[in-house]
Amino acid sequence: MPILVMKFGGTSVATLDRIRRAAKRVGREVANGYDVIVIVSAMSGKTNELVGWVSETSPLYDAREYDAVVSSGENVTAGLMALTLQEMDVPARSWQGWQVPLRTSSAHGSARIEEIPPANILRKFDEGMKVAVVAGFQGISPEGRITTLGRGGSDTTAVAFAAAFGAERCDIYTDVDGVYTTDPRICDKARKLDRIAFEEMLELASLGAKVLQTRSVELAMRYGVRLRVLSSFEDNDADAGTLVCAEEDIVESNVVAGVAYSRDEAKMTLISVADRPGIAAAIFGPLAEAGVNVDMIVQNISEDGRTDMTFSCPVDQVKRAEAAMEAAKESGAINYHDLVADTGVCKVSVVGIGMRSHAGVAAQMFQALKDENINIKVITTSEIKISVLIDRKYMELAVQALHDTFGLEKAA
Ligand code: ADP
Ligand code: ASP
Ligand code: MG
Repeated sequence: MPILVMKFGGTSVATLDRIRRAAKRVGREVANGYDVIVIVSAMSGKTNELVGWVSETSPLYDAREYDAVVSSGENVTAGLMALTLQEMDVPARSWQGWQVPLRTSSAHGSARIEEIPPANILRKFDEGMKVAVVAGFQGISPEGRITTLGRGGSDTTAVAFAAAFGAERCDIYTDVDGVYTTDPRICDKARKLDRIAFEEMLELASLGAKVLQTRSVELAMRYGVRLRVLSSFEDNDADAGTLVCAEEDIVESNVVAGVAYSRDEAKMTLISVADRPGIAAAIFGPLAEAGVNVDMIVQNISEDGRTDMTFSCPVDQVKRAEAAMEAAKESGAINYHDLVADTGVCKVSVVGIGMRSHAGVAAQMFQALKDENINIKVITTSEIKISVLIDRKYMELAVQALHDTFGLEKAA
């Protein structure tokens, strides 16, 4: 039997009624002749609640226990989905990550999938089971502890299963009907894309578009998984949603494919550090060790042998970054006059493979921001994206202005 992977996100399993609706979709695919692997998220809001409980109990928590707690939301929905399918006379059972077993690294809170041996589930399919319901987001470490894959990780579970089982397709059911030119919740002119290239989706995801977890796109690209994003609330026809596919499979595209944002960023500046060989290593080594995810980095021109070093990181890592820098200063590894944190910034980015062959995108982006009187604090670019750090209060305005300036409401 051909295998299909169907993943349902938090809003799609938020109530028993929605689980029933999702199960009906699964039942239809079984009727179409598929063996189905269903990956479920926790009910919407559940994971946030669990994370909150952990932080309240222990601010500097043991990451292994964090994973034990926050992985539990998916266990509930997996069991409920299997029961719902059984009530519909569809032979189904649930699997927690460790039962599969979905083996991961030991990096608790953001573990990487290492192996999914298909034998156990395939044997059940052989015995007549039609649906394997698997709890997303979780796995087991070499030490035998429960791990989680980072927020949004059920997408990655789904794609990894599709790759491991050679599934015909991996369908990601969510609360929007596909991938849009930008988040439809903050820009009402956002347009649904029928197709998007892996590279573009990868950039959009890593720059904040949360519709797919970055790692899931990476895996789909590496293993050639047919990845589709579609609505769990609408009736979808055969080519509904958005297909994430190879660049060659896209006929026409805009120079800029989409606009992404990341709301909760911080900009930190070390004022007056010695400009000498090894200074960047002395700063960013301890930050990495402290688990700070540094994103943009800018070093100023130096004067009298001293310079300013600016970097950005998620706003909830500011305290950790400050502690790491203070410790490095105390140990004598670095010296600076002041550390200034601006916790009111966000990152807005434009992405498109067309930028490889088109000049002038950056200039057009900066002009659009100028026309809205938005000051740019930091800029970074790569071959297919340009990102700016701006005041958070201008985030929506910037996204809408960039969407307009690059004509994204219309197809190329
Ligand atoms: P799920 O719970 O199904 O995993 P998520 O909340 O993780 O859903 O992802 C879906 C959300 O992603 C949408 O509700 C939307 O607000 C947001 N989003 C951000 N950027 C985009 C985009 N470019 N296209 C579609 N959705 C986007
Ligand atoms: N429940 C997890 C989260 O909210 C994983 C997921 O939904 O993908 O991050
Ligand atoms: Mg998600």
